[in-house]
Amino acid sequence: MIYLNGRFMPAEEACIPVLDRGFIFGDGVYELIPVYSRRPFRLSEHLSRLQHSLDGIRLANPHSTQEWERLIEELIALNSEEDQSIYLHITRGVAKRDHAFPPGIAPTVFMMSNPLITSSAELVASGVAVVSAADNRWLRCDIKAISLLPNVLLRQIAVDAGAAETLLLRDGFLTEGAASNIFVVRDNTLLAPPKNNLMLPGITYDVILELAAAARIPCEVRRIAEAEVRSAQELWLTSSNKEVLAITHLDGQPVADGLPGPLFKQMHRLYQDYKNNVMRK
Ligand code: PMP
Repeated sequence: MIYLNGRFMPAEEACIPVLDRGFIFGDGVYELIPVYSRRPFRLSEHLSRLQHSLDGIRLANPHSTQEWERLIEELIALNSEEDQSIYLHITRGVAKRDHAFPPGIAPTVFMMSNPLITSSAELVASGVAVVSAADNRWLRCDIKAISLLPNVLLRQIAVDAGAAETLLLRDGFLTEGAASNIFVVRDNTLLAPPKNNLMLPGITYDVILELAAAARIPCEVRRIAEAEVRSAQELWLTSSNKEVLAITHLDGQPVADGLPGPLFKQMHRLYQDYKNNVMRK
């Protein structure tokens, strides 16, 4: 079951007019919210980021926080899995094709649920390979825009190379992954690129930094040079569905000894414990 513009219905029955600005221009924003045991994870943070994205494209939020909470709760109840991935998508609506904002139209609001597939135990144990590429996206990567063509092309570089993700470098510095955030460990210190217009402020990114601070793991949020990435002690990638994974190879070269490192193992455990505690409350 999906949600479209005020109604819940089977996905096969849902239709979008061809002049929807999401279809024509990619003029919209989205969120992806993991749901564990039928409870949305960090919902208020996801809804705040949604507001930031809507503000970024100058589109009024069609719903209050309470309305979003109710709609999401209802969508979760209508789907059978205990662990779900809620995809929420808002476009500027349907209008005659013209780049300028059309006055007085209603936004299109769409939500669907998919089974949440987090990283398998095998992947957590083995780590993943990534390849690097120049970050050629626009300068508002902090907006979770549905126009994802650059991310699609960048991610395919990894797929073509048999790797799990593409690590992005802009002007000699790490930004993020094509669909994830990236962390670096050097001198037993966790390094994270600063949140700015060059990356998506990941919800998982925040969880990792909070858990690291609570565990007294030294952290630095600062720009990370390409050379520091290439000679890292550990590299991790994070996202709502992958959670946290060790990167063991970058562009075919092993990261340190090519195995998930001790700090990754600690963080993976902390993340699982945190998630289980939050969901039990
Ligand atoms: N950066 C990009 C470009 C992404 O697409 C994602 C996944 N949505 C992330 C980072 C990670 O964000 P989150 O932890 O909120 O899933």
